Amino acid sequence: MDQINMMNEPVLDNFWMPFTANRQFKAAPRLLASAEGMYYTDVDGNRVLDGTAGLWCCNAGHGRRKISEAVERQLSTLDFAPTFQMGHPVAFDFAAKLAEIAPGGPDNRLDRVFFTGSGSESVDTALKIAIAYQRAIGQGTRTRIIGREKGYHGVGFGGISVGGLVNNRRMFPQILADHMRHTLDVERNAYSKGLPAHGVELADDLERLVQLHGAETIAAVIVEPMSGSAGVILPPKGYLEKLRATADKHGILLIFDEVITGFGRLGTPFATDYFGVVPDLVTTAKGLTNGAIPMGAVFAGRKVYDGLMVGAENAIELFHGYTYSGHPVACAAGIATLGIYEDEGLLTRATELADHWQEALHSLKGSPHVVDIRNLGLVGAIELVPRDGAPGTRAYDVFVDCFKRGLLIRVTGDIIALSPPLIVEKSQIDDIVSTIGEALKRAA
Ligand code: PLP
Repeated sequence: MDQINMMNEPVLDNFWMPFTANRQFKAAPRLLASAEGMYYTDVDGNRVLDGTAGLWCCNAGHGRRKISEAVERQLSTLDFAPTFQMGHPVAFDFAAKLAEIAPGGPDNRLDRVFFTGSGSESVDTALKIAIAYQRAIGQGTRTRIIGREKGYHGVGFGGISVGGLVNNRRMFPQILADHMRHTLDVERNAYSKGLPAHGVELADDLERLVQLHGAETIAAVIVEPMSGSAGVILPPKGYLEKLRATADKHGILLIFDEVITGFGRLGTPFATDYFGVVPDLVTTAKGLTNGAIPMGAVFAGRKVYDGLMVGAENAIELFHGYTYSGHPVACAAGIATLGIYEDEGLLTRATELADHWQEALHSLKGSPHVVDIRNLGLVGAIELVPRDGAPGTRAYDVFVDCFKRGLLIRVTGDIIALSPPLIVEKSQIDDIVSTIGEALKRAA
């Protein structure tokens, strides 16, 4: 009873909410009580269409019984087992299943899997693997990582160092990193459908940073192949290919952060497959377990894995890992999730919906306040012109308005970002777009 008052409403004071204006939220909370398929239900019983797959994670929609049954079964069979110098079959089984669909082709599949507990942990893990690999092959001076402005790689010290969002960085110390310019160019690329035509030359920033710092100081470059959290920023045509070539030329590892793009978001299992550019390491989380149980995974290619499997057989090759790396319940959730993705063809379903999605989103061109619309796979962004002196407030008002009318969207600054579960129907796409269109008309 401690946390429940007489009206049976939760006490809001104690939960320090992440990435939230706590005081504003607690004065007018939005509380979700249950979820099924494409819809949440809030505590007042209103249905809310999920335009964001939770937080880019519930790719197979909500309330999937296969997952909850697998979790229940696993919890009552083996609730926890260590994976340090010990093991359990479920983690090996999940890794083997992931290897079958891992990013890359038959000759260069990234089929060595390191489990983590989240996207942030996956990023820190990948950065540490990159530095450790360079050291293992005699390149110990390579400790710098190159990221990109507006990049989001979670909130660990590694992730904020290579990330490029000022609010996430300004208050905290960082590891050695430098940044390429971002690829958002509304002036030249506004209302592009799919990949923007302009900006491939921005990939030359990697060469420029090599000339500035020296290749022998750089371990890796990390980018989101399509960046979500900063407001859906797409790579210009040819950009990722150029990064790959420059990284190869200078012995720099290429890391794709696929925490959002992994597991079908672009219509292929991974963005790596969509772009046909294979990095050395791929970070994932979110869709890995359909968001049901926290978990992340880093996919590494044989070059990196084998490069670290050296020295005495009884020596630990990588001094890194988490209590929950390969947690049996998370692995069981992941195996069930992969089963659903396969049975329902969800890892490629975005391809079938992409044209409808694109046309629906772009129908909002000309709506009040809109300055750009971007889309790729089942991701979309509607960028609004900010209010004078009050950036972010216009999109926030649209977000609250949509929620009151039964639609969950996500906003970053004055950008509306959309990423519905991959089970979305065309009629629901139309609902998403018409609700936003009406909210834009009402927004001051
Ligand atoms: N990397 C990317 C590209 C992300 O979008 C996110 C989260 O949105 C993260 C890392 C961090 O993941 P988590 O919040 O699970 O730590």
